Amino acid sequence: MIVGIDLGTTNSLISVFRNGQTELIPNALGHLLTPSAISLADDGMILVGLPARERQATHSHLTATAFKRWMGTDHNIKLGKQSMRAEELSALVLKALKADAEAWLGESVTEAVITVPAYFNDVQRKATQAAGRLAGLKVERLLNEPTAAGLAYGLQERTDHATFLVFDLGGGTFDVSVLEYFDGVVQVRASAGDTRLGGEDFVQVLRDWFIEAAPDLNAKEKAGLAEDGALWHAAEQAKRDLTEHEMTTMRLQCLDRSVVLELTRAEYERRCAGLLQRLRRPLERALMDAKLEPSSLTEIVLVGGASRMPMIRQMVTRLFARLPLRTINPDETVARGAAIQAALKARDAALDELVLTDVMPYSLGVVVTEEVDGRRYDDRFSPIIERNTAVPVSRVQTYSTVQDGQTLIILDVRQGESPLGSENLLLGTLEVSIPPKPRGHIGVNVRFSYDVNGLLEVEAHVPATGKTIQSVIQRNADVMTEIEIKIALEKIKALKIHPRDKQENAYLIARAKRLYEDRLGRERQDISHALTRFEALLDSQDEVLIRQHNREFKSYLDSIDKSFVL
Ligand code: AMP
Repeated sequence: MIVGIDLGTTNSLISVFRNGQTELIPNALGHLLTPSAISLADDGMILVGLPARERQATHSHLTATAFKRWMGTDHNIKLGKQSMRAEELSALVLKALKADAEAWLGESVTEAVITVPAYFNDVQRKATQAAGRLAGLKVERLLNEPTAAGLAYGLQERTDHATFLVFDLGGGTFDVSVLEYFDGVVQVRASAGDTRLGGEDFVQVLRDWFIEAAPDLNAKEKAGLAEDGALWHAAEQAKRDLTEHEMTTMRLQCLDRSVVLELTRAEYERRCAGLLQRLRRPLERALMDAKLEPSSLTEIVLVGGASRMPMIRQMVTRLFARLPLRTINPDETVARGAAIQAALKARDAALDELVLTDVMPYSLGVVVTEEVDGRRYDDRFSPIIERNTAVPVSRVQTYSTVQDGQTLIILDVRQGESPLGSENLLLGTLEVSIPPKPRGHIGVNVRFSYDVNGLLEVEAHVPATGKTIQSVIQRNADVMTEIEIKIALEKIKALKIHPRDKQENAYLIARAKRLYEDRLGRERQDISHALTRFEALLDSQDEVLIRQHNREFKSYLDSIDKSFVL
């Protein structure tokens, strides 16, 4: 069985296609959303998902969230003394999802379709594949998230020609894609986005506002507050409240007093004006690249948890002069699409054959020297495959020498949209030896082939020597090498992962500790007593008693904590 996985910045989901429909798989806590969070527990065990996210407020230095933003970089994320790459942390999330699916399906799961933002570059895609490998999954395909959303909304079932605009505002990334369906083929006509814009930024607005508005705090106290996990939790809750209500109250314990501040939705929206403005640019660019007017789109699809905010819906409605589609839960859309793609891979008979084509999100090319009116200009970018070309694609371009007697052509392979080579992202370098000849007399044919998984192969052929150098894009500095992957596999194997069947207990303890820090006085004492009782019971290892008490402890926490869970 091939599963579909939405590996999100904030939350991840795993799904399958069974009995002719998509099915989301619950985790050990019975939830469909697993927070993409990892925490190192006090006993050295690794916690994944909700128990980990609960510890963000109380143990921020031992907890990692939003690490998808670091995929494909060698940035090290610290968990106490441990130091982890985003690929390793993502692998732990994937491993937990895999275990959930295996428990649910009763069979082993080794293959997956994993979704990535359409905007992910080559390095980030390779990082996602590496994360899959580290989790023991063969990544059958990387699927662009908007394409998955299009599949979930049945774009492929339309009988006519249709264009969908997918507006995906997740926890950490924003993607806009224009999908086209015609005659059995789904194509991404254009994609644009911002890898550093998402629901988290809307939380940040509330954190900033709270710090600014909290009375009588000195600079040091304000700085401390900015780092406080409890502020994040309160701000996230306030953001969700403002989706439902016109007004919210944010309460936070600052030093020895409780700060209570009120905010209206109108004021919040006013403070988010800058973020809304930033959302417009990728929208305009995607339409321009697809050569479409807003009025010629068939449907607008809203995806991603943050698209629930009324200001997002209003902005989209105003811009496109129509109501967007949002019948499928915006958190689940991409995962459902991934399951459809997984079934297509496995050729589930319930699905008709469907051809999917995606586009390359960036222009890919080499850095060259150009001569204009006898003058030489270095550091020019020469695109070989232009942005938004349908993939798979293979293109060849010929370059010739610029100096007499030149014996080496260095091909700097880069991606990006800047006319200056150095401003685009370096993917790798290829060195091609050539026989010395007068300038312009030696040519090299450079072929770029880009596959459906968004991976690039480069080939340089010198007709004068008949020599070909293939795919020498060994690695970007930030792509994990085979050796690094082997070491990471050992490292992950050595980690003690908190047992799946004890997940609920870990969650309740982490939640109780967060509430203890949050509250004061009598309530704090009650939480402390309940927690001590529960921990003592866990020590007794009496399974029947633990299960029984677990339910009581949970309903007690539910009664005092009305805030969001997922
Ligand atoms: P996703 O990456 O699609 O799971 O989206 C996660 C983002 O959606 C986070 O930033 C959440 O805070 C946000 N989100 C989820 N539910 C709501 C809601 N009711 N109102 C506002 N934002 C929400």
